Amino acid sequence: MNAPLRPFWLAQALAAEPAATGVPLTAAIEADVCIVGGGFTGLWTAIQLKQQRPDLRVVIVERDLCGAGASGRNGGCLLTLATKYFTLRKLFGAAEAARIVQASERAVGEIAGFCLRHGIDAEVRLDGTLYTASNTAQLDSLRPVLDELQQQGLSSWQQWPLARVQAHAGSARHLQGFFSPVAGSLQPGKLVRGLARVAQQLGVTVYSQTPMLALEQGSVPVVRTPHGQVRAQQVVLALNAWMPQLFRQFSRSVVLVSSDMLITQPCPEQLTELGLDHGCAVLDSRTFVNYYRTTADGRLMLGKGGNSFAFANRMHSGFDQPSRWEGLLKEQLHSFFPSLREVPLASSWTGASDRTVSGLPFFGQLNGHPRIHYGLGYSGNGVGPSYLGGEILSSLVLGQDNAWTRSPLVRGPLGRFAPEPLRYLGVHLVRDAIRRQERAEDANRQPRWLDRRLARLAEAAGKADKG
Ligand SMILES: Cc1cc2nc3c(=O)[nH]c(=O)nc-3n(C[C@H](O)[C@H](O)[C@H](O)COP(=O)(O)OP(=O)(O)OC[C@H]3O[C@@H](n4cnc5c(N)ncnc54)[C@H](O)[C@@H]3O)c2cc1C
Repeated sequence: MNAPLRPFWLAQALAAEPAATGVPLTAAIEADVCIVGGGFTGLWTAIQLKQQRPDLRVVIVERDLCGAGASGRNGGCLLTLATKYFTLRKLFGAAEAARIVQASERAVGEIAGFCLRHGIDAEVRLDGTLYTASNTAQLDSLRPVLDELQQQGLSSWQQWPLARVQAHAGSARHLQGFFSPVAGSLQPGKLVRGLARVAQQLGVTVYSQTPMLALEQGSVPVVRTPHGQVRAQQVVLALNAWMPQLFRQFSRSVVLVSSDMLITQPCPEQLTELGLDHGCAVLDSRTFVNYYRTTADGRLMLGKGGNSFAFANRMHSGFDQPSRWEGLLKEQLHSFFPSLREVPLASSWTGASDRTVSGLPFFGQLNGHPRIHYGLGYSGNGVGPSYLGGEILSSLVLGQDNAWTRSPLVRGPLGRFAPEPLRYLGVHLVRDAIRRQERAEDANRQPRWLDRRLARLAEAAGKADKG
């Protein structure tokens, strides 16, 4: 059998590891907690459980290997939920919105500190984030929320003079920029593999190549796998984009949408010339956001959300291949950085983000079962918030009475998308309209009326990725 194609970060992380990446489950076992899915959410949950209750028998069953999902292939932009403040306040009220924004800011430091304490070299650089306007239509689009954060005493953001924005972001394409120091970037493959190592050191048993085939939802749940099963007092489903296909009740809670990315070969001199000698995550303000950052080894990575959608939220093989939108990504790369035109690309890849109507993740108990918990829906902003996912899910498992278990975030999905086939047709119609609108705006042309109307449907449901 051919070895699976691994996305760039994961391949880089695996190359630095000893060959064995975990064993499959081949017996019927018992556990206190069985976590299904070995990405950031599952691993942070396992770690936080063991930190609080070292006596618990915690196992992870993972379909492939830890990090094979979104956690080992994302852009590595370490961001907060601050720009979601209006949505948070509308849904949950001002006090809870403020608490969640602050918790998401705390998570940034917690992740960096955890890596330091546990010797995880995830190349964490807390160099902040710059949210920009890359055409005139995007100007001031962030100002209302940032002004409100300021009013509420919650703002870590500052508008920078244009010259500083362009110098720091390395491109004259930016026309405005707001900077927050509470953010940064990291190598996600190294983080997820590091978390798997630490989880195991804390006594968590990780079974890889072990897909859950069925979940018996009796008084004590049982996770069935091809060659074994786990009878567990508590189950945590940390399945991200795989959740809707395994549990149909979530088929309208999320839309699976690709984020596509490319990365150059090392070109540290060119990056230094551009002023890109830092790990700041730069994002523009279009609906299908462009985001980029450098790596510690002197490459430039650029990603773009909102390109491919999955019919009926099926995880298909297209999400596990080089990006079919490489041409579009290259066009963006060269438009931001004409001087990198000759720098060869090292790789392109893609992956599925689980986009919710609100753009916020949600957590809860499956069919109200008190022993089966789940969390998903990070909507392309999960690197930082999945740390909170671990806090939420470990609190639920331990039956704690705290701000997370009382939070409206643990009351299940917060909205529904249209059913298929309407949704699939609709998202393509809207995607194409957004593309035409953004092309027109990039060329300083007025977009067509119909395109603007259609694009507004996506805006009503929040941005397609990142914040
Ligand atoms: C291409 C891309 C770019 C992104 N960029 C960013 C970014 O720059 N910044 C940011 O904050 N967020 C980003 N995100 C989002 C972020 O990566 C995710 O929100 C986060 O990784 C979710 O972690 P998770 O553990 O919930 O999911 P995952 O990492 O997807 O973990 C789910 C796991 O479940 C496993 N699994 C599936 N089915 C089964 C089964 N039947 N049995 C057992 N195991 C199973 C999978 O193999 C997988 O390992 C991006 C996402 C993508 C796809």
